[in-house]
Amino acid sequence: MPASTHSTHSLQPQIDSDRLLKDLNRLAQIGAGADGAIHRIAGNDADMAARDWIDKTMRVTGLHAYYDDTGNVFSRRLNTSGPWLLIGSHSDTVPAAGHLDGAYGVIAAMEVLRTLHEHDHPMADHVETVAWFDEEGVMEGSRGGLTGSTALTRDPHAEDLFAYIELHVEQGPRMERAGLDLSPVTGIVGVRRYTITVTGQANHAGTTPFELRQDAGRVATRVAAELKGICQDADPASIGNAGVIAFDPAAANVVPGAARVELEVRARTEEALDAIERSLTDFLFLVAREEECVADLERTSAKPAAVFDEQVYGMVEEVCRRRTDRCAPLVSYAGHDASVISTRLPTAMLFVPSTGGFSHSNREHTADEHLILGTQALLDAVIRTGESMLPQLLSKTLVAA
Ligand SMILES: [Zn+2]
Repeated sequence: MPASTHSTHSLQPQIDSDRLLKDLNRLAQIGAGADGAIHRIAGNDADMAARDWIDKTMRVTGLHAYYDDTGNVFSRRLNTSGPWLLIGSHSDTVPAAGHLDGAYGVIAAMEVLRTLHEHDHPMADHVETVAWFDEEGVMEGSRGGLTGSTALTRDPHAEDLFAYIELHVEQGPRMERAGLDLSPVTGIVGVRRYTITVTGQANHAGTTPFELRQDAGRVATRVAAELKGICQDADPASIGNAGVIAFDPAAANVVPGAARVELEVRARTEEALDAIERSLTDFLFLVAREEECVADLERTSAKPAAVFDEQVYGMVEEVCRRRTDRCAPLVSYAGHDASVISTRLPTAMLFVPSTGGFSHSNREHTADEHLILGTQALLDAVIRTGESMLPQLLSKTLVAA
């Protein structure tokens, strides 16, 4: 159970937790198979039905919902002129998904706007919700996902927005293991992928002595084995994976003449990623020389690390700490729309724990009390961010007018 809320929040509007859980359930039924796993691949019938449900649900008295050209669904109060604080997440899923990845942040944002609207809170005029299109990138023809958020960064509408806050399930085991209720998210790791190719000399595995081998396989496996040390030396919070190793020829009685390794590394900063890349390259060439082989390392893709906005992050952290003592910052090891949006708007995120760390699976689960606490913290963060950033923005708007 989360720690009880502090009495200083008696004046703070409270979300409707029954409505939150009921709406999460409702959305979980759209695109669900017999085993409860969800198939809302961006653009499929279930995904479009979910978007229509979101659109209709937000068309309550005084609220206005609309689609943009990309398929993102927005909602806000009628007859407001901004600037707006954007909150939300994605409503598409991977195949056989859980019911919380993306959906939780969308439903929570809808709950926050409706609560502000019903309380006629001053922030109600300055919040917009979004259900992003194709975050996951499994739709045919998708260019790696984050489609809706990427489109917004190039859309003139981004100029009407002053910040973005995304609530999400952690999708990993860190919070649960540390006994945390809430985590403000400092940023999202950058991801670089590499292909290593090694050329040696194929030879008889029995008659060729160790000292006369040019064993490409040995180079590949030594580098793969060293990856953990290389990552941890650069930044203990970084992580790496050698996911493919292929030998040619591939036979027990042949010394591999060629080898290929595909690997990826994730780290919090570009500096850490650079340091890992340098060490990896140095180690590869050292080992290749020792094994009398020729090696090459190619960076095949790079997603930059996102470090969230200090001011917005600070306010998210502040409201999380006010709600619970079991709160500590976390970096996200999974990608999110927030990483793209952070290139355009001051951005931050917050996480609630994932039971057992499961995600992209129908075992995805978060306790109701954490789902409720996270949504309340999102509402607190919206109000806190509005109080802090809006007065200056509005006075600028008045001056400009
Ligand atoms: Zn997600």
